[in-house]
Amino acid sequence: MLHIDILTVHPDLLIGPFDHSILKRAQQKQIVEVEIHNIRDYTTDKHHSTDDYQFGGGAGMVMMIEPIDNCLKHLKTKRVFDEVIYMTPDGERLNQQISNQLSMKGNIVILCGHYKGVDERVREHFITREISIGDYVLSGGELPAAVLIDSIVRLVPGVLGDETSALFDSFQDNLLAPPVYTRPEIYNDWKVPEILLSGHFKNIEDWRYNEAIERTKRRRPDLLNE
Ligand code: SAH
Repeated sequence: MLHIDILTVHPDLLIGPFDHSILKRAQQKQIVEVEIHNIRDYTTDKHHSTDDYQFGGGAGMVMMIEPIDNCLKHLKTKRVFDEVIYMTPDGERLNQQISNQLSMKGNIVILCGHYKGVDERVREHFITREISIGDYVLSGGELPAAVLIDSIVRLVPGVLGDETSALFDSFQDNLLAPPVYTRPEIYNDWKVPEILLSGHFKNIEDWRYNEAIERTKRRRPDLLNE
């Protein structure tokens, strides 16, 4: 069982992504559990502030350490965490290998930033891993967290119906996935490659492998040198 706790100031942004398709089924099958925590519930002042002006001046608010600490302290009384992750554009860039590693963990916390990000002391003292989903800046860590979680959850054994299907996705084995087709066999004169209709399993497998190599050479030659 993989348990994921998400810390956010915008829980609403996270409700949609976990309520559909594979992520929903994984939770129904009790293979994965996702819990969303509103950092605002862990504030102690009367305005329930989660952010404040930055020291030294400058535009943009910074998320305060205390509510985050309170929330983490509370969660640590329930679970021992393998990783406390902060979504941030200056973290290590997410790839399939990182998702593979995280899919084998038991308990993960994911902290979503907002505004200018979190007080640096949060990162120094509570965070064990920092992950970016790419070299661009979003306004909050919620969408990045959903991207990370989707990529992890589909790799947890038992989540995908066909156990082997994740193994043939792009980036497993440093290869892009081969093309796929479904009915009809002919549409507007455009035919499905003959070999896929042949029923000859070995030839189909070879064809797919060659297509994967060709596609990788053409689109992502960098992957072949890794
Ligand atoms: N001032 C920060 C950006 C803050 S963006 C900087 O320049 O680095 C606000 C929040 O959105 C961040 O705290 C982070 O949680 C999230 N975020 C934005 N872009 C992201 C990305 N590419 N990957 C992961 N998280 C991101």
